[in-house]
Amino acid sequence: MYKSAGRLVHLDGKMVPYEEAKIHVLSPAVKYGASVFEGICGYATRDGSGVNIFRLREHLVRLQQSMHILRYEQAYSLEELTEVVLGTVRENDVRTDSHIRIQAHVLGEGLMGACGPVGLSCTVSPRDARAIEARTKRAQITSWRRIDDASMPPRVKAAANYHNGRLGTVQARADGYDEPIFLTNAGKVAESGGACLFILRDGVPITPGVTHGILESITRDTMLRIFSDVLDRPAVTREVDRTELYVADEAFLCGSAYEVSPVTDIDGMKVGKGEIGDITREAWDIYEAVVRGTTNVDPAWLTPVFDD
Ligand code: PMP
Repeated sequence: MYKSAGRLVHLDGKMVPYEEAKIHVLSPAVKYGASVFEGICGYATRDGSGVNIFRLREHLVRLQQSMHILRYEQAYSLEELTEVVLGTVRENDVRTDSHIRIQAHVLGEGLMGACGPVGLSCTVSPRDARAIEARTKRAQITSWRRIDDASMPPRVKAAANYHNGRLGTVQARADGYDEPIFLTNAGKVAESGGACLFILRDGVPITPGVTHGILESITRDTMLRIFSDVLDRPAVTREVDRTELYVADEAFLCGSAYEVSPVTDIDGMKVGKGEIGDITREAWDIYEAVVRGTTNVDPAWLTPVFDD
């Protein structure tokens, strides 16, 4: 757990001490899970001289889209949201790697149809960089199915969607695995509870499409660009069958927090040699270089936090 003492949280336009960052038990955010959020990463540059936030704009656009789909009565501009995130990191003077959570929740005491008032919070938690070996996962195809666009759209990054993720995660952990992989109601591969999935077959990266029960992941998009622009190995986005996972040469999960997390075992069967795959490792090396600013795929992906 992160140290809470001395931390400041952005809450509705003010920076408040960590202990005071609270919302009411009767708010629709608590009663119905009426809350959308983004998890965003800050990265120290390799020489330690600065901090950049990775793909801030895309995260904030997705936050706006989540609020729009759920008909939140208040909208925030990209400029406002950007200032909230940058202000939170600056006020806390976090100059290491970090995880930033910005959240828009429905407050008041409204009932099911309440779309406001909308509250906004932002936190920043320092975190340590971890070697790819420390992120290696053993996965289980969960017996829970992924939520879908007709009932609980995975495209919306709503806190309530994570009930689905939690069901799979607690089942996987109880059965001795690290991560669930969800199938859609049609039986096709979707994603894990908190990350998207790539497999490699005969050197070709393959990942489910954005209409196949997944969050429109920013890291997935980054990987697609890395595969096409840097590694000269364009990925295919298509429906993926469960049994393709069993015959894949490599597999990895990807997400802002997961970064590149190799999957070495699925349902107790080795993926490839049961080790971190060569292409997975190569993709991680590039991803790491991109987030730290030593390899440039798109200059707009890094937002510097501090001027000095
Ligand atoms: N799928 C789910 C369900 C997630 O929670 C996340 C994490 N936000 C992802 C995929 C990866 O998304 P991103 O790369 O935008 O962090």
